Amino acid sequence: PGRLVCVGLGMMLGAHIGPRARSHIEQSDVVFVAVSDPVVELWLQQMHPDVRSLQPHYAEGKLRHQTYRGMVNDMLAEVRAGKTVCGAFYGHPGVFAKAPHDAIAQARREGFDAHMEPGVSAEDCLYADLGIDPGRVGCAHYEASQFMFYRRRLDPSAYLVLWQVGIAGDRTYRRFATGREYRQLLVDRLREDYPLDHPVTVYEAATLPITQPRMETVPLHALPDTPLHMHSTLVVPPCMPLQRDDAMLARIEAVERAEA
Ligand code: SAH
Repeated sequence: PGRLVCVGLGMMLGAHIGPRARSHIEQSDVVFVAVSDPVVELWLQQMHPDVRSLQPHYAEGKLRHQTYRGMVNDMLAEVRAGKTVCGAFYGHPGVFAKAPHDAIAQARREGFDAHMEPGVSAEDCLYADLGIDPGRVGCAHYEASQFMFYRRRLDPSAYLVLWQVGIAGDRTYRRFATGREYRQLLVDRLREDYPLDHPVTVYEAATLPITQPRMETVPLHALPDTPLHMHSTLVVPPCMPLQRDDAMLARIEAVERAEA
């Protein structure tokens, strides 16, 4: 019977792929691939004779939901035909990625075996390159547009990471970039919680062993005029120290005293 596994390739070509992901790629009947760099497709083609690109589903002006549905349909068609199918995605296949989650859920609904193998995501590279431990003061992750469309309660004593900041504010779900006016609105939202001169970092992980990550720190007010891409992630460090919860500490002390 058909089955589906979605695997992560990591961010850097050849450097992050795990043994389980590699063996799924080598042993599946068909491999579908969705990666940002055509070089990565060529690399996969050396691992398997039948590698099919999901990239043609992307097109400027096409609804992103349609793109993802097309990818899911391609993979599911082969699963239904009885094939063992591997979907190979850059980064972690389950991090800010809709098609792999949808495809696995759909395959399971239809009674097929389906699972995900994790990978090294942009998030993991970010912690390494920027020297951030998400456990030190906490770290919240949001999709930049969703963060603008909905009221969220920010904690400025923790890190904030905004994904897909290059298309922040896009309500058409069709664009590959939004302009400085949209980014100004994002700044307007952030200044509710952070000072305008607060340093923020545009982060782009290296995807080839020969390139360097982009780590560009600018004051918050300069963000509208800072170049952003589809593969940019924005990191906002805390702007205030942790706020002690005296009431809770007093209650803990009471429990401690009762114990003693
Ligand atoms: N599944 C991927 C993320 C896909 S969503 C992962 O595991 O990382 C696309 C978003 O990921 C981009 O908008 C950006 O916020 C982030 N991203 C993708 N490539 C990146 C890179 N090279 N450096 C930093 N962030 C990146």
